[in-house]
Amino acid sequence: MKMFIQGESADAESAATFDVTNPATGETVDSVPKGGREDARRAIDAAGDAFKVWSERPPIERSRVLLKIAEHVRANVEDLATTLTQEQGKPLGESRSEVNSFANTCEYYAGLIGRQRGAQTPFSTGEGFFIVTKRPLGVVGAILPWNFPVSLMGWKLGPGLAAGNTFVVKPASTTPLTDIKVAGLLGKAGLPPGAVNVVTGPGAVVGEELLDNPKVAKIAFTGETATGKRIMEGSAKSIKRLTLELGGSDPMIVCDDADLELAVEGAAWGRFRNCGQSCTSVKRLFLFESIAEGFVRDLVEKVKTIKVGNGLDRSTHMGPVHTVEQREKVQSMVEDAEGRGAKELVRGGRPDQKELAKGNFYTPTLLGEVDYEAQIAREECFGPALPIFIVKDLEEAIDRANDTLYGLGSSVWTRNVERAYHAAERIQAGTTWVNSPPIARAEVPFGGFKQSGFGRELGIEGLDHYFETKSIQVLEYGKGKRWAFPIN
Ligand code: NDP
Repeated sequence: MKMFIQGESADAESAATFDVTNPATGETVDSVPKGGREDARRAIDAAGDAFKVWSERPPIERSRVLLKIAEHVRANVEDLATTLTQEQGKPLGESRSEVNSFANTCEYYAGLIGRQRGAQTPFSTGEGFFIVTKRPLGVVGAILPWNFPVSLMGWKLGPGLAAGNTFVVKPASTTPLTDIKVAGLLGKAGLPPGAVNVVTGPGAVVGEELLDNPKVAKIAFTGETATGKRIMEGSAKSIKRLTLELGGSDPMIVCDDADLELAVEGAAWGRFRNCGQSCTSVKRLFLFESIAEGFVRDLVEKVKTIKVGNGLDRSTHMGPVHTVEQREKVQSMVEDAEGRGAKELVRGGRPDQKELAKGNFYTPTLLGEVDYEAQIAREECFGPALPIFIVKDLEEAIDRANDTLYGLGSSVWTRNVERAYHAAERIQAGTTWVNSPPIARAEVPFGGFKQSGFGRELGIEGLDHYFETKSIQVLEYGKGKRWAFPIN
């Protein structure tokens, strides 16, 4: 597959390529150009030219194009989902829902743009008025991770295109294929050539050009907190606007009055969906002492039913870990916890089945009696292992939940609305779900507290991050004093 610049498929100027591997089989799915700085510059210039055209299109036209994009993406859902499963590993059903969520985001912003209102406000001194308008930023560099390559591209393109911006997308090197296919559909929907370009290649080269290049007005980044710090640093040179969606270590608190059956399902789904590789997923489970024993017993039974396999097999519940390094990281976190006394309630590891031997599989793991100093308690575990902690009450649960550098998602499970609200107000996280595992919705702003990042994607707030705010001050003729020296 080739990358996508100025509405056309393109090779790298160097003609170099690299392979994309299927994490379930170890086989090569396809190869893509290994773009360099010169390719990124070509794409940035194309996006700059397209900005002049796209930003002048009236909101109603941008809205129509976004609706068309959604239509094309939905019409190709099977093909896109299959490619996504092949390159990323997640089960086909999850891939389908990810592709559809790209379309949902486009539809949401298509509905929002053109329906915004402002106000004309008189000066406090009475000699005129001001209006506040919104202007698109220009060229945006969208730097994407591998865990949700399609939906997270939608979180950026949806509001960004609606607002009149244009893009250079830098997909993760291990998941560029579906993003390229989506970009190929955009022209058919009426997007001008160059409005969305996809440049494949190493983050340290293509990504760094996006940071360095003064023609890029904003970086919208999703990825690891460590990379986020580098993005901030690199963007400082030209004072770029930034949205950073970084890692998380979401707490799930189950109170003694919760619907326990529902909560068991929520914990299993919330941790093991996408093989535990979601920025917002249940990464630390806090159980009230009085319900812990029964809850753990039921959760163990539930987790044992999760079927691990190739995502293309329709009976698979959980695919492979995305890369070998990622699997080793999960394994070393599990070993570190065990070294500090944790008990494996469900034993994880490489599966026995021969047909899975070439993939990066790691079966679901539940850990009890985990030390609060263990890596899995303190850092983000991006894979299928869940540490369980027992707490005496809600206050202890909230204190423990907040004892982390992260603050992305969280959930509290209770039938008592006062308890739910109390916890939601005190947990330091961008979202608290009540009686639900983490599910992002196009209309709800999403983002982090603390080292989980800043800025918001989705919702009305997400659109605001793709505009500059401009004030226009109008003096009413004949009012106000003249501008003479001396000033007094
Ligand atoms: P990484 O931070 O490793 O990579 C993300 C992107 O950044 C990739 O495209 C990568 O390119 C690129 N990149 C790497 N180095 C640089 C650089 N120096 N300059 C510019 N770009 C660079 O994250 P992962 O792909 O490993 O994604 C997993 C992480 O993402 C997890 O920590 C997860 O929590 C987080 N995440 C957060 C979400 C949120 O909304 N808060 C949502 C989803 C994931 P390349 O692939 O070529 O290295």
